Amino acid sequence: MAVDLHTHSTASDGTDPPSVVVERAVAAGLYALALTDHDTLSGIEEARRAASVVSIEFVSGVELSVEWPTGSMHMLVYFLEPGDGPLQDRLTELRAGRDERNVAIVERVRRAGFPITMDDVLRHAAGDSVGRPHIADALVEQGAFPDRDAAFASLLANGRPAYVPRPRLGAFEAIDLAGASGALTSIAHPYTIGLNRNEYRETFRILAEAGLTGIEAYHTEHTPELREHLTHLATDLGLVATGGSDYHGTGKPGVHVGTGKGDLHVPDSAFDQLRSRLR
Ligand code: AMP
Ligand code: FE
Ligand code: FE
Ligand code: ZN
Repeated sequence: MAVDLHTHSTASDGTDPPSVVVERAVAAGLYALALTDHDTLSGIEEARRAASVVSIEFVSGVELSVEWPTGSMHMLVYFLEPGDGPLQDRLTELRAGRDERNVAIVERVRRAGFPITMDDVLRHAAGDSVGRPHIADALVEQGAFPDRDAAFASLLANGRPAYVPRPRLGAFEAIDLAGASGALTSIAHPYTIGLNRNEYRETFRILAEAGLTGIEAYHTEHTPELREHLTHLATDLGLVATGGSDYHGTGKPGVHVGTGKGDLHVPDSAFDQLRSRLR
């Protein structure tokens, strides 16, 4: 059997409701599923309820964007429970930072000649974590671009005319807050950090020392060689090799729950090892 420890729902920028993500995981025959929406736990209750009536292990989670000098670092947080808590409270602030940034991005998009409004954006967002993918959806709806990717490539990606940064947690701060909330962390899709193969070890060694639990060795965008390299590295550093599809529904066409782009297989041991790290 296999697991999928990285998925998105309409609580953030996925296009399937949380319960549908669970249905897809069951249909794929998965042993465990984690829902990891960006900066929000608002999909967890629905997903957990759906998972409770079928035979699948469910892991509550979120995905954070954190500060790192060399590139884009995302951190998956596992076993984080909805409600109050050190990290949970910071998520509220991060979503407020998103809301402010979205206003600034929409203003830049308009100045670039695309007359969308915040209402147009919010019509594409079902949850409380709104971001660039929903702005892209509004642009696609107006016929300005064929899909989300094209809107990012032209306007929304870092370095493009409508890009605006937003406040993020530091990587160490995120690990500390997750620990204080009784949760575990894993570095998402390490290929985006901007490191070459030989530089991963030092980075992950430092983060492991700071309390990191895992690295996402198995990801849709990793070549089989990179998956193997990162799995060995995780073992060497005493970290758990986690993995997932990064499913976003039609937001990332061609990516499926469990199998990613078709060749993903995250072993059951990823979930078992992760769970065994809970204190
Ligand atoms: P935000 O959270 O507003 O910063 O938007 C980041 C999200 O947009 C990521 O989690 C991806 O789902 C999506 N994204 C990032 N870069 C691209 C891209 N180049 N094309 C399409 N989607 C992207
Ligand atoms: Fe996303
Ligand atoms: Fe990510
Ligand atoms: Zn993701």
